[in-house]
Amino acid sequence: MNPVPSDIRALREQGVLNIVWNDRQVDLPFVYLRGQCACAHCVNEWTGERILDLASVPADISVEKMELVGSYAVRILWSDGHNSGLYTWERLRELSTPER
Ligand SMILES: [Zn+2]
Repeated sequence: MNPVPSDIRALREQGVLNIVWNDRQVDLPFVYLRGQCACAHCVNEWTGERILDLASVPADISVEKMELVGSYAVRILWSDGHNSGLYTWERLRELSTPER
């Protein structure tokens, strides 16, 4: 059973994405989330290796827009123009879990 967030909000002043799960609530920094983008531009599809240079992510990156994709993911339009990454609930859940 995959966890589904009950709320996701972009808190632009704090620069974090606030995600409410049924057992916890987390604030994930935008800059961190942007760096975790798993789209084909950011990660090599074959090797899983990150192509995105984290140093190229602006420290003040923000969320321009978010849209739900079906009932399993959210697409984030970042202020650097990048919008091809989907963040599935599963992925967000992973990122919300401090130690693995
Ligand atoms: Zn990406």
